[in-house]
Amino acid sequence: ANKLVLSVVVLGASGDLAKKKTFPALFTLFKKGFLPKDLRIIGYARSKLTDQDLKEKVKGYLKGTDAEVNEFLSRMSYIPGSYDGDEGFQSLQKGLEDREKGHEGAPVGRLFYLALPPTVYPQVCAGIKKNCTQMKSSEEGWLRLVVEKPFGMDLESSEELAGELGALFPEEQLYRIDHYLGKELMQNMLVLRFANHFLSPTWHRNFISNVQICFKEPFGTDGRGGYFDEFGIIRDVMQNHLLQVLALLAMEQPVTLSADDIRDEKVKVLRCLSPVKLEDTVLGQYTAAGDQRGYLEDETVPKGSKTPTFATCVMNINNERWAGVPWIMKAGKALNERKVEIRVQYKPPAAGIHPNLNEMRNELVMRLQPDEAIYMKIVVKQPGLEMQPVVSEMDLSYKHRYQGANIPDAYERLILDAIRGDQQHFVRRDELRAAWAAFTPLLHAIDSGEVSPQPYPAGTRGPPASDILVSRAGFVKNSEYIWKTAEVK
Ligand code: NAP
Ligand code: NAP
Repeated sequence: ANKLVLSVVVLGASGDLAKKKTFPALFTLFKKGFLPKDLRIIGYARSKLTDQDLKEKVKGYLKGTDAEVNEFLSRMSYIPGSYDGDEGFQSLQKGLEDREKGHEGAPVGRLFYLALPPTVYPQVCAGIKKNCTQMKSSEEGWLRLVVEKPFGMDLESSEELAGELGALFPEEQLYRIDHYLGKELMQNMLVLRFANHFLSPTWHRNFISNVQICFKEPFGTDGRGGYFDEFGIIRDVMQNHLLQVLALLAMEQPVTLSADDIRDEKVKVLRCLSPVKLEDTVLGQYTAAGDQRGYLEDETVPKGSKTPTFATCVMNINNERWAGVPWIMKAGKALNERKVEIRVQYKPPAAGIHPNLNEMRNELVMRLQPDEAIYMKIVVKQPGLEMQPVVSEMDLSYKHRYQGANIPDAYERLILDAIRGDQQHFVRRDELRAAWAAFTPLLHAIDSGEVSPQPYPAGTRGPPASDILVSRAGFVKNSEYIWKTAEVK
């Protein structure tokens, strides 16, 4: 890999994502020695910046010693240019050719990272295709494009965008980022699910009562509501991130660990989803409480907006493994806590010698953030003289179990994968299509304005109707579970 003559072109280099995610991830990879010494990074955007301006913008986000930061910055340059016409792309091509000159014989890699609004993707990809694909030096050369969500607004617009890009570049060159796929616990899923025989046979409607995938954020839009309001919580997290979680949890074992074998299984299970129905959905919108202004009081949010900032949906997967098991997705802003977790709740024993087991369920919980953890709620005898069942846990807290282990940022892994040509953690076009198909009818109903979200005070767990829906779906809250942290020596 160290022989690779790698150039990373960050388009939209003047923007937020580039500064906060793309450049810092590249820096960390470089610092840790994952990228070739002879790396070049070219920032490109319409803003008239100099090399130095870009470096100044980015510097504060790079966490390392002065020497490391300077080493990295010395590999960065900036080219200003537009996206209409060929001129800008030609100067980019010239920059790349100059950089690759003298390396004939070595493998060349060009990674184009589109940190841009998706509306310009087709134009940008056409410009790259026309002007920036010529690589003189090597037969081993590759060119890949990384693109960021949102990939459309519904099935139709997503297909249109995919069609436009697909006409320019084949699927193998397109890397659609869903940064959830870069998270440690998401990557663990293939191991946890397919390397533990005690789980495999119980991962089935015969044993599992319901599954919850839950995303909670404690803050509201606060001045960034303009962007959010066009999308709403379902497009923002459910249709993409949470559906990726669902796919990895619900899919069958792939034939191998290759990118396409895994994605084949994900597509298969996503295609078994019935489109989400309005009657299986609760929508919410937060109102003012404490210091938190209400959603409608955010001046960037259009007056009277009906965009949901909270949603709970009960979904069904129509296949032999999952028929009849409710898959509950829940996501919201301005709630009581920050967490992303999966909760697989088992059925109670069919009949038994102990009372109250209905409210003492085995639950496998995987917390993706914060503080990665996997725990299984189990029923044991309360220590003491009585024969008293009680819910306890088998616990794997990463912080304790893997002290000092470094859990890489999602963007670091994904960018490294793109450089290595591994598409496993990127969303394939047919996956995207199936994901949109599941949500599009519901989204159209919401967009038409026929449903109003239910208000909930900021800092709460969302509208009470959500708990009713969730309990109707079969979720039983364990009655007397109390978590004790492991600090006791
Ligand atoms: P941004 O700051 O709004 O835009 C990035 C850059 O794109 C801007 O600095 C601007 O540079 C250029 N740009 C803006 N509008 C343009 C237009 N109409 N035509 C051509 N260039 C335009 O966006 P961002 O927050 O960095 O996000 C970039 C992409 O990542 C978007 O697709 C976004 O949805 C996605 N994303 C962002 C985040 C995040 O944390 N920010 C998270 C997930 C996904 P110039 O004016 O200098 O050309
Ligand atoms: P929990 O936070 O008590 O939530 C359990 C489930 O019940 C969630 O689906 C939650 O929904 C729901 N729920 C909460 N309050 C409810 C209410 N009033 N009515 C209806 N449903 C309600 O989680 P837990 O697994 O039982 O764990 C309890 C605490 O122990 C948590 O703070 C957890 O982080 C901690 N713990 C930590 C570890 C570890 O770090 N390794 C291990 C075990 C337990 P919402 O998600 O929508 O609130």
